[in-house]
Amino acid sequence: MSANQVFVQASGDLPDRITVANEQAILSEGDYVLVILNRALRGEDNPVIDAAYHHAQALSLPIVVYSELDEQADWANDRLFYFALGAFRECAIALKKRKIQCVQVLKRKGEEDTMRSLLPRAAAVYTDEDYTFRDRARLDRILAIANQTVFFVDAARLVPTRQLAKGLKTTPAFRKAHGELRDRYADLRKEVIASKTVGETKAQKLSLPSEHSFADYSDTAIKALIAQCGINHSIKISEKHPPTQTEIDTRIKILKEKILARYKWIRNNAALEHSTSQLSPYLHFGMISPYQVLAAIESSDVSKTYTWKFRDEFLTWREWSHYQAFYVPNLHEYEALPEKAKQTLEDHASDPRPELRSDEDILNGQTPDSTWNAAQNEWSTTGWLHNNLRMYWSKQILRFTQTPEAAWKMACYINDHFSLDGRDPATYASMQWAFGNAKKGYSEKEIYGWVAPKSDRAILKRDGMKAWIEQRNM
Ligand SMILES: Cc1cc2nc3c(=O)[nH]c(=O)nc-3n(C[C@H](O)[C@H](O)[C@H](O)COP(=O)(O)OP(=O)(O)OC[C@H]3O[C@@H](n4cnc5c(N)ncnc54)[C@H](O)[C@@H]3O)c2cc1C
Repeated sequence: MSANQVFVQASGDLPDRITVANEQAILSEGDYVLVILNRALRGEDNPVIDAAYHHAQALSLPIVVYSELDEQADWANDRLFYFALGAFRECAIALKKRKIQCVQVLKRKGEEDTMRSLLPRAAAVYTDEDYTFRDRARLDRILAIANQTVFFVDAARLVPTRQLAKGLKTTPAFRKAHGELRDRYADLRKEVIASKTVGETKAQKLSLPSEHSFADYSDTAIKALIAQCGINHSIKISEKHPPTQTEIDTRIKILKEKILARYKWIRNNAALEHSTSQLSPYLHFGMISPYQVLAAIESSDVSKTYTWKFRDEFLTWREWSHYQAFYVPNLHEYEALPEKAKQTLEDHASDPRPELRSDEDILNGQTPDSTWNAAQNEWSTTGWLHNNLRMYWSKQILRFTQTPEAAWKMACYINDHFSLDGRDPATYASMQWAFGNAKKGYSEKEIYGWVAPKSDRAILKRDGMKAWIEQRNM
């Protein structure tokens, strides 16, 4: 059976979201169609599940959903494991409602590899495709084991990245190309969701190598499990950003009622309680889809004249970062910076750095800059930082570190390990902006060269910001 035959009757956007990722045969026999969710950790509005469902229908098979969290991941720590397992739990609850069997594994060092035992019985494999080096490594692992066709599905973006023209070089060029496809993909997604059949897979209870899911875990049970893991326990769980569906629903409600109409004017003030949606951790772990956010905006009473700025951040900037990660696989490396940026930073690498600090001082927010320290303290204790402060924070690291490359490594380390939404295309694309993949500065400066610096003058003028900084530095 060819990929086209499988999808000839598939509805909506599915054919545009799916890529055949290997040259293995599509098997006509198997016990199930296997869905491996890496970061699209949700049971609803999930194109990976939708696509696997169509295939399973054609073969008269059920689908089984698998996810794993690896104790040996370089970023493994209490904060991120707690969030990821919370996402697993919500996903398992949603799948249970849809009567889809699911296997969720906390992969411990030296224990049996459950994915290896599930794969041989699958007629085909569907998995969500993302583009950072960690996402690519997860996909490579699947491809190395699979002896059946693996389908990659674009489940993280409203407009599938592969449907955009190659070679878009600037944000305005991306905005234009992306803007032309948004309505089309929103309509097509709506069509899939409205299609009554999706989700009613063959209800057949299979005997699986592992039956485990986190659906019934309490918070206490998840915390106890994390405490036993061989991971970094020094980065604590963030109580401020709980990984629950209830929290997502609350944030969506606040976005619609308190933020959307004023976003353009309030979005830069980190001291305001509700100036931005704080949805990025939930988007990063795929607990909510871009279409679900868009549908929420459209169901609000706020007119497009007011919502365009939010749409632009959320659709242009977010998906532009994914596009960059797709075409630049080493976007997370200093090496990937534009030559001009590297050259000017290199020209100033031996400039005196009077504010140089040890790694420990930087991580603990002990620098001569109280705005920076407050931002670092907020990020390291809560796992989330406001965009306006991230912009300032990222530019200053060059002042505190020995070389531009050391600054890059430190900035990525903090984003990858402390930030709930870190390890994302937006992490590295934003860091690229900070380190000079943007308009050059007005003059050549010490340490920065032609990379535009950023002062905290405007930040300090915003209502409540001085008090916000003081509180974080207490
Ligand atoms: C140095 C630096 C590092 C960053 N690291 C990350 C990161 O690791 N992960 C991450 O998701 N974002 C990152 N961003 C982008 C942005 O800061 C966050 O997406 C935003 O602060 C998340 O808050 P929010 O959900 O309240 O955003 P809102 O303003 O409510 O926007 C809604 C959504 O749109 C997207 N979005 C908004 N602004 C941007 C942007 N500038 N670039 C890309 N997407 C955007 C996010 O998914 C966000 O959740 C970084 C920015 C900078 C300057």
